Amino acid sequence: MDIVEGFSRIGEENAFAVLARAQQLQAAGKDVINLGIGQPDFKTPEHIVDAAVAALRNGEHGYTAATGIPALRDAVANELSTRYNTSVDADLVTIMPGGKVTMFATILLFGKPGVEIMYPDPGFPIYRSMIEFTGATPIPIPIREENGFAFSADETLALITAKTRLMIINSPANPCGGVTPKSEITKLVNGLGQHPNVAIMSDEIYDRLLFDGEEHVSLLSYPSIRNRLVLLNGWSKTYAMTGWRLGYSLWPEACFEAVRKLAVNAWSCVNTPSQHAALAALTGPQDSVATMVETFDERRKFVVAALNDLPGVRCITPKGAFYAFPNIVDTGWKAKPLANALLEEAGVAIIGGPDFGTLGEGYIRISYANSLPNIERAIDKMAAFLKQQSPA
Ligand code: PLP
Repeated sequence: MDIVEGFSRIGEENAFAVLARAQQLQAAGKDVINLGIGQPDFKTPEHIVDAAVAALRNGEHGYTAATGIPALRDAVANELSTRYNTSVDADLVTIMPGGKVTMFATILLFGKPGVEIMYPDPGFPIYRSMIEFTGATPIPIPIREENGFAFSADETLALITAKTRLMIINSPANPCGGVTPKSEITKLVNGLGQHPNVAIMSDEIYDRLLFDGEEHVSLLSYPSIRNRLVLLNGWSKTYAMTGWRLGYSLWPEACFEAVRKLAVNAWSCVNTPSQHAALAALTGPQDSVATMVETFDERRKFVVAALNDLPGVRCITPKGAFYAFPNIVDTGWKAKPLANALLEEAGVAIIGGPDFGTLGEGYIRISYANSLPNIERAIDKMAAFLKQQSPA
């Protein structure tokens, strides 16, 4: 069979392989604590589930418009307009089957051989995978520990060339939990004024998962780049809805028709009961979000302190998302062998930093989307392992 060449370059997310291995070990009777996968360990709030069930019972189970039900697109536009004190046109909003699908569509829109696409490293692995799939050249934007895992506007702007067509940014960020300060984002946007051919995709999927009084800075707050901004967001993380496959995007006018047609060709529409659930999530009570953030905050404080007590490990305090990204260089271990040994020998699933890019070497990602007792047990197991085992 003659499968097209791009598929030899497509990558994946190792978090799913680690999850499968952890489940296999558990099924074989091993005690495994999963700090690998990036999804909230909470149940989807009851009123959201009820809205999906009611939709099904009311016969809301047929196709919808490819771009989503009008009430939901309106609700998204309303939410964005209110939050960022701007005016968002619901006609440029699409409801997507997950946040990932917005990056898929955006990278397909801009990626081709001969062009460059910038993406954060360490960063969500699908950015690079999709860029390579299209044949475009991936240009990593360094995300550095000494910078609090924020991106630097100057360093990022310096990477733009005549071939750059798309810049992907992500704050709050996976895998480091970094939040880029407003001053840096403003500097970046100002600098982008010199590069009118560069589109921007801002992945803001962790926008509500912020700590220490941080306020989210959306790229939507900057009118100067509005006509070339793709905003990626969704319900997966904020409302504990990863398996519902729900996301939304706001598109520049010039991209909208292409994305609408891609939706018609590829997924027709997002699962209809899920869209009704999404509407209930946006328009209903928000206290579950606040409770989830408080719970994550408690775990975050615990996990950072506990990681800093492990031999050879140091960890800065992340300001967003639900990940810690400790530096493990002084343990003497390389990140991937350590991740593997922790899973196979200590029963703790975590992800090695290199799974998020070349600058991830020397780090591991801990998702603290697990209960405090489980996190405590995992840290104890890691401590015992690091004290007993010498680096592979
Ligand atoms: N963007 C980032 C930075 C993520 O970490 C994730 C999921 O882990 C996604 C997008 C994808 O979200 P979804 O599950 O809604 O496709």
